[in-house]
Amino acid sequence: MAVDNTTANHHEFKAEVKQLLNILVHSLYTNRDIFLRELISNASDALDKLRFESISGSEIWDSDLPLEINVSFDKDKHTINVADTGIGMTKDEIISNIGTIARSGSAEFLKKVADSNKDVSNIIGKFGVGFYSIFMVASEVILKTKSFKKDEPAMQWKSDGLGSYELEQLTEEVKRGTSIEIHLREDAFEFAERYRLESIIKQHSNFITFPIYLEKERINTLTAIWREPKTSVIKEQYNEFYKYLSYDSEEPLDIIHISVDAPIQFNSLLYIPKKNMDLFGFSRHEYGLDLYVRRVLIQHENKEVLPEYLGFVKGVVDSEDLPLNISRETLQENAIFNKISSSITGQVLSHLSKMSKDDPEKFKQFWKEHGKIFRLGYSDYSNREKFAELLRFNSSVSKDSDELIQLSDYVSRMKPEQKEIYYVSGASREAIEADPHLEIFKNKGIEVLYLYDPIDEFVMDSLFKYKDYNLKSVEHADPKELEKFGNKENLETVHEALSEEDEKKFEDLLKYIKEILGDRVTEVRVSERLSESPSCLANPANGMTSQMEKIMHMVNKDTSVPKKIFEVNKDHKLIRNLLKIYISEPKDEYIRQVVEQLYESALLLEGYLNDPHRLVNRIKDILEKSSEWHLAMKSIK
Ligand code: ADP
Repeated sequence: MAVDNTTANHHEFKAEVKQLLNILVHSLYTNRDIFLRELISNASDALDKLRFESISGSEIWDSDLPLEINVSFDKDKHTINVADTGIGMTKDEIISNIGTIARSGSAEFLKKVADSNKDVSNIIGKFGVGFYSIFMVASEVILKTKSFKKDEPAMQWKSDGLGSYELEQLTEEVKRGTSIEIHLREDAFEFAERYRLESIIKQHSNFITFPIYLEKERINTLTAIWREPKTSVIKEQYNEFYKYLSYDSEEPLDIIHISVDAPIQFNSLLYIPKKNMDLFGFSRHEYGLDLYVRRVLIQHENKEVLPEYLGFVKGVVDSEDLPLNISRETLQENAIFNKISSSITGQVLSHLSKMSKDDPEKFKQFWKEHGKIFRLGYSDYSNREKFAELLRFNSSVSKDSDELIQLSDYVSRMKPEQKEIYYVSGASREAIEADPHLEIFKNKGIEVLYLYDPIDEFVMDSLFKYKDYNLKSVEHADPKELEKFGNKENLETVHEALSEEDEKKFEDLLKYIKEILGDRVTEVRVSERLSESPSCLANPANGMTSQMEKIMHMVNKDTSVPKKIFEVNKDHKLIRNLLKIYISEPKDEYIRQVVEQLYESALLLEGYLNDPHRLVNRIKDILEKSSEWHLAMKSIK
């Protein structure tokens, strides 16, 4: 049973906080500086929130206080103080904001960090646990805060970051906002130095939009570089702002600086990161642009300016034409906002398209890192043409699985009468190349796009067409349609035609195969698409593709085996031999064994074989028989 050590003033940290603190105490850091960045960033958020409350008309305690951040230190006492005049915290807010980790999935994050022995100072800020980084340098922290709400008392929170904290109500007068006193650990005394604090602020917090004072001297330069004309911003400034904004230590892959005056005025500064920053697949909700109205931050990480598939883009957008008091709820109904949003979306796509022409290597890097999320853009109907041009695929003409082509490349290589663009799905290039459905395409020299990601099928399904050409799965290709293309080599006459009588027997054999497979298949028929394989499973012409079917099965937790058409390659040696056996002894058990084996092998290839036991036993049986025949054939005794 858990012991409740909580008294009126004494509170235990929640388990996950203890765990995090434990990691912080025991980790090695290359970069302890960031504790200050985290505190200043929290202070800036608190000031943004205050400004928002005041725009929204809330009553504000100490409303004349200037909005600013003050950093001070005492070298002899080894203390640093970071104070803001922001929104402050009530007692309940302290308990829920800095006694727990609110973010869902944090436990998983902690485990990963603990296991990986990673330098946490590089990632801590990204996961909304920045406040605790203070304990990389502090042996004790005393936080005093007074909420902007008039009736809430000022509170003091005190902790050594080990397992608990003390919370008490203050009787002395405290101004609105939060002030944090840090008693440095012995190994962190170095931080109580002017030059040190100044350089950290300059490096990490230069773009904070509120003034930051160090012992009363203004430190940050505060320029909204997105509002400057492009010609006056140098690369270093762009990069510096990017690092501030994204917490990325690398430079961005690309920068898009947009400035529009009519019909609607807005500026936007956007970045494409070099790496997909979806660390551990955990920060999916951390995307979106910072939305400013007349330089006032209205919303951090707004998710509506850019559609989700462009969520890898970091940056800001700032407009003169939006009302300052616009609420987050009414943004989406605002016509100006929607125009800004569609204009920026269009510009990002145009930029990518220009990149693909001017710098294919860079584009390839973009695709590798962000292609997965970008492909979700299939749902953006208004930009589908631009989107389609930006898609990349591996294909049967590629020399390896890394090479990428685009739909227009495919079209330029199409056969004169070809009306469709063909694609096939599979787990890898090797798996796809073993797919019997591809045989006819290989024989006819028709290019096929290789899709490795389940989402690609959705993309194809939803695009449906590229220019005048239908996008079609090879499974749905009608072999009769393909006949007109002629074979690459002289493959047609490899086998002799059957005699009229044998044709009839063959019809009977097909019926018998259907009898064996019964309800497990919808039909047994002669295949027109196979040349090397004896048989395959095919989908009814306009049904789902196997890949799509598999996804639906997974989604519906359906373990049943879909019913398909069993196609038989009439010219295959194995099938011809079966026919001979059938003619001489229609009920020979061997026929049944082979048919079962072919059917289950096809299921295995498609990923539907739920129980391999029968298949394995049957193979053993067939091998045993074939060893006997081998002995007989070689006259071995
Ligand atoms: P994050 O800032 O990513 O939410 P933190 O651990 O840094 O995570 O902070 C937790 C929460 O504590 C913040 O979301 C905020 O509600 C509150 N907080 C931290 N610092 C301040 C501050 N200076 N003023 C008001 N609230 C603060």
